[in-house]
Amino acid sequence: MFKKHLEKLNSYLWNDIGIDLGTANTLVYVRGQGIVINEPSVVAVNQKTGQVVAVGVKAKNMLGRTPPHIVAVKPLVGGVVSDFEVTEEMLAYLIRKAEANFRKVLGPRVVVGVPSGITNVETRAVRDATKNNGARQVYIVEEPMAAAIGIRLPVNDPVGNMIVDIGGGTTDVAVISLGGIVRAKSLKIAGDKFNQDLISFIRSEFKVLIGEKTAENLKIAIGSVLPLHTPLEAAIKGRDLITGLPREVVLTDTEVREAIAISVDHLIESVKEVLETTPPEIISDVMTRGLYLVGGGALLKGLPDLLAESLKIPVHVSEDPMTAVARGAGIILEDFEHYKGVLIENEDELPPHS
Ligand code: ADP
Ligand code: MG
Repeated sequence: MFKKHLEKLNSYLWNDIGIDLGTANTLVYVRGQGIVINEPSVVAVNQKTGQVVAVGVKAKNMLGRTPPHIVAVKPLVGGVVSDFEVTEEMLAYLIRKAEANFRKVLGPRVVVGVPSGITNVETRAVRDATKNNGARQVYIVEEPMAAAIGIRLPVNDPVGNMIVDIGGGTTDVAVISLGGIVRAKSLKIAGDKFNQDLISFIRSEFKVLIGEKTAENLKIAIGSVLPLHTPLEAAIKGRDLITGLPREVVLTDTEVREAIAISVDHLIESVKEVLETTPPEIISDVMTRGLYLVGGGALLKGLPDLLAESLKIPVHVSEDPMTAVARGAGIILEDFEHYKGVLIENEDELPPHS
């Protein structure tokens, strides 16, 4: 009874905010409201003045289309904080936007999800940036942990849970048990790498240069890792490297598969390596319970089946895999007492990573 009143009082005084600072997309969850922001992790900066011109969707639309003095920057390249100032600007924008409609008396308590490969220095940078933007208390959660909570895996139980989060810049592989990360690996093979593979393939096979957004659209439209029942093709536009003029080329799903095959192999090998160093009891849990795929890369056609076949374990794709981390941050905020054990308040609490 008393606890209920306290909760109510709390919600009058401050907001709790969960942020998934992804390499491709940033999502913000506000306690009691759900996901209120879902935007690309891109910031456009005017290099002459140092000022931020746009953040999120607006900045992403500028990618590859900016005049020389405006640069569109991704704050987290390859899962590392590439630019502290830009990261701070991005966080400032998000917190302002999240708080705009329901500003409270006290600064928010903020849970920030960061890629599992992030260093202590980077974690501190994220924490300071969040604090500088008015947060009363900042907690860091590693994204695979947040994702596991987001898809309601029993992370606090003595049972092995395996998460593979395929994002834009990184794929995070983690094995979780008893509220902690038992094994983790962060690799730079993820959505962006597939896009780069496509750009290289089209340049060498067709002598046509395409942009990053075109490559991404192509991957999403016809990308797959196993032969499809119904073959697909897509027409894309780029610049002919020989004539210098615009040219359209038509690609098939087979060609896209060929373009990304090596990266897909590397990704599967890395997941295998994590399994190989996982303690036997946990392996046995994972074999019966299966592996859970989250992140945008989980939507690549055929990937769950190929993973299951290569690893000989069941593979599940969570519903709405791209919001798992943000939903997890939300669940942590809503049930703080139950989950506070998974949060990192000080850098020295960070577990070691391979
Ligand atoms: P992050 O957590 O790093 O911000 P996300 O989980 O938001 O990344 O996933 C973004 C990545 O997922 C991008 O590389 C995007 O191209 C890819 N992606 C999104 N939808 C699909 C799809 N349907 N098929 C394949 N890849 C996809
Ligand atoms: Mg992510």
